[in-house]
Amino acid sequence: MSHEPILSIAGISAHYGAIRALSDVSLEVFPGEIVSLIGANGAGKSTTLMCISGIKDISAGTIKFLGKSIQGVAADQLVRLGLAQVPEGRKIFPRLTVKENLELGAYTRQQGASLTSDFERIFTLFPVLAERCTQLGGTLSGGEQQMLAIGRALMSQPKLLLLDEPSMGIAPLLVKRIFETISLLNKEGMTILLVEQNAHAALELSHRGYVIETGATTISDKSSVLLNDPRVRAAYLGH
Ligand code: ATP
Repeated sequence: MSHEPILSIAGISAHYGAIRALSDVSLEVFPGEIVSLIGANGAGKSTTLMCISGIKDISAGTIKFLGKSIQGVAADQLVRLGLAQVPEGRKIFPRLTVKENLELGAYTRQQGASLTSDFERIFTLFPVLAERCTQLGGTLSGGEQQMLAIGRALMSQPKLLLLDEPSMGIAPLLVKRIFETISLLNKEGMTILLVEQNAHAALELSHRGYVIETGATTISDKSSVLLNDPRVRAAYLGH
């Protein structure tokens, strides 16, 4: 594993008006890793991802992607640099077909670049999307929409994939399928930062993890260590 982090966040804070949502978040993601960020409702997981993907400004600290500060870089430019986010709640385009949703994911790519092999890769990962290629996005089940949202992000050929609560509101069987696919993607070389309330599943899947509590990262370690940490077990694993 490389010693240069692909993503490096140091001491960031962020506000919503006068409310401080993040006070001190630091984390690193190295190439080839799945890193999970776990925490309770409202701890600041989504806000952290929004700061990384340029949707939300930070008020202190630094965020570096591939060694360079990305503060002030517009969200669409970050996609071009290789950052892709799958937002909480999926946010696919309900009135566009599955294929059109995927095509939109490639909008930052060079004009005329061949999308065929990307479609093939996504349809191999998620065969159900191939079957439903011409179906409107809004008519897919929650789990299928999550697959579509991940597929759409992959169309931009990211170097780092940010996943916000991929298990939320999805039937357990499909959650298993989605987590298996995340693992497969990682084995193919994709680096992933995974935000999850389902701490157990996230730690089972990831190499390392960070705990965020009321806007600050507190505990971090290998996921296998966190799974056995009494503080993590008591607060997030229910035993
Ligand atoms: P969840 O798992 O419930 O999505 P989270 O860990 O992702 O929670 P955030 O959504 O990042 O947490 O929220 C962090 C804090 O910022 C919370 O106190 C939340 O109430 C607050 N917050 C989030 N979005 C806004 C907003 N648009 N306006 C004001 N406060 C907000």
